[in-house]
Amino acid sequence: MFPFMITAEELLHTRDLKGTACRKFIISRLLESEYALSESELKGDFPDLFDRVTFYRTLKTLEEHGIIHKIVLNDNSVKYALNNHHHTNSNLHSHFHCEVCDEVLCLGEKIRFEAELPAHFIKHEVFVVVEGICANCTLHAN
Ligand SMILES: [Zn+2]
Ligand SMILES: [Zn+2]
Repeated sequence: MFPFMITAEELLHTRDLKGTACRKFIISRLLESEYALSESELKGDFPDLFDRVTFYRTLKTLEEHGIIHKIVLNDNSVKYALNNHHHTNSNLHSHFHCEVCDEVLCLGEKIRFEAELPAHFIKHEVFVVVEGICANCTLHAN
């Protein structure tokens, strides 16, 4: 979480990005959410507010500028989380996917997966998704 309330506009400004309507919309949705969101969850009640191409390009731009990051799940569906909001640093970290409610959250860096690579292999990215049941679902199971 940010130590203070930051608006989508301020966040874009810190990265020298123009505050386009679509950028502000996506960041605001993520700021409001406790969990990572899929494309359709991001759109929520406004599925037709932006055209597909604009929406997709905006997600890419935000990702390239280190504002959001993408989480690819087992079934190849994708969720997006806001850097420095859904986790405290932008380093490699793992994710938790709840099999019951389908929520995805960023885990602390300590649980991150260390791959032991053979000689001369180069690691660029590691994607780890822990599958299981979240606290909310465990506590409301009965
Ligand atoms: Zn759950
Ligand atoms: Zn994350």
